[in-house]
Amino acid sequence: MHECILLIEDEPALRTTLGDRLRAEKYVVETASDGNEGFDKASSYPFDLIIMDLMLPGRGGLDVCRDLRATGMATPIMILTVRNETVDKVVGLKLGADDYVTKPFEAAELLARVEVLLRRVPLHGGQGIYDFGSFRMDVRQSEVTRDGKPVYLTAREFQLLRYLVERSGSTIPRSELLRSVWGYTADTFTRTVDTHLFSLRKKLEENPKMPELFLTVSGVGYKFVGKDRK
Ligand code: CA
Repeated sequence: MHECILLIEDEPALRTTLGDRLRAEKYVVETASDGNEGFDKASSYPFDLIIMDLMLPGRGGLDVCRDLRATGMATPIMILTVRNETVDKVVGLKLGADDYVTKPFEAAELLARVEVLLRRVPLHGGQGIYDFGSFRMDVRQSEVTRDGKPVYLTAREFQLLRYLVERSGSTIPRSELLRSVWGYTADTFTRTVDTHLFSLRKKLEENPKMPELFLTVSGVGYKFVGKDRK
């Protein structure tokens, strides 16, 4: 299956060249030329990744990002920015963006980052919908609900959850999680895994201090033990 990317960019030349470059890599690309059109498309169709410019007419990139996250959408978002917009960068990460690429960029670098954000594991069984009783996960729609209410997960939390759920019952070493979910090869960021896992417990466990779904395997990593009731 080819991944679908939404490109929100108001500069026609960049929209065309970047769109063509992504299509050449076999991605399915949909475009929008302003923030409102981008938000409408992003909230109407399930994309695997959204690439958007920071400065957009209508609704700015940061507003679109915040508004999409407010709907519970966990699709990875990459923001295109021009040099020296560091303040916006911090704000953007807080609002739920997953990565930044500074203009002008090398296509190869952007494509490499796109790959990291899209790195996903093949779905096995069902339609990517899991029901663990306490929470429900729809991989295709990038949605997680608890007692019928949407749970807001960051894109990384969603990817981590998906990775664990799809390997339910297996112990996954931290290093594998880092490599597969974050694209890191070094072991220096293992705290990152812990931080995200604690956050998943907080959002999805009855009692985060006495986890019943996301178990720690001492000295190794983590194991998801929820039972799919579907
Ligand atoms: Ca712009």
